[in-house]
Amino acid sequence: MQGKIIHQTSWAKTASETPIALYKKSHSLSESAERPVLFIGGVHGDEPEGVILANELLLWLQENEIIQTERIRPWLLIPCINPDGYSRAQRCNGQGVDLNRNFPSRDWSPECKAPRYYPGPSPGSELEVQALTKLIEDEKPQLIVHFHSWEPCVVYTGAPGKEAAELIAEGTGYPAREDIGYPTPGSLGQYGWLEHQVPVICVEAQEHSELSTVWPRFAAGLKAFLMRR
Ligand SMILES: [Zn+2]
Repeated sequence: MQGKIIHQTSWAKTASETPIALYKKSHSLSESAERPVLFIGGVHGDEPEGVILANELLLWLQENEIIQTERIRPWLLIPCINPDGYSRAQRCNGQGVDLNRNFPSRDWSPECKAPRYYPGPSPGSELEVQALTKLIEDEKPQLIVHFHSWEPCVVYTGAPGKEAAELIAEGTGYPAREDIGYPTPGSLGQYGWLEHQVPVICVEAQEHSELSTVWPRFAAGLKAFLMRR
């Protein structure tokens, strides 16, 4: 069967009506037993490395789904979940909320540690987060991978994510580890794992990297993870 990719140009919208795109592999019945992997770029608008990684991964999927569709796991991909923050090169969304503190996990906290970490007026208040939590409930991904930049590391939340995190980190020189080193209430990791038992991997590319080096560093690990053995 030839690979087919569904592209929803306006899968969701931000509070200022900016469209958010979603791509997904349309899987055949024989593949439906395996739940998809959800990839997300641009949670933080001032981390262009994460958007580059998501877009480069999408390009590779678009090229390879045609020739070896049966070998690639089912997937969903959002190149940039925070387009308003991204267009302004700011961490928070257009409403000034840190999306990675706004998820309705049981540990969500109204406490704002710093202005750039404002968790929002209530858990799940932001449209970007609402769209994502609905997608997770509907599609029941086996794993969520979101791309950021900070100090280089691949962090997994939920022990079942360890193997995939190690595979993605392989050859990058980055450590794969379970804890980012500080509490992140209301993060996507806490939401996915605590509320749905879906492990979540946060890829932290080296911040302020030469952008052309980001994809080559992670390409082998991401491809190895996506290909069925
Ligand atoms: Zn980030």
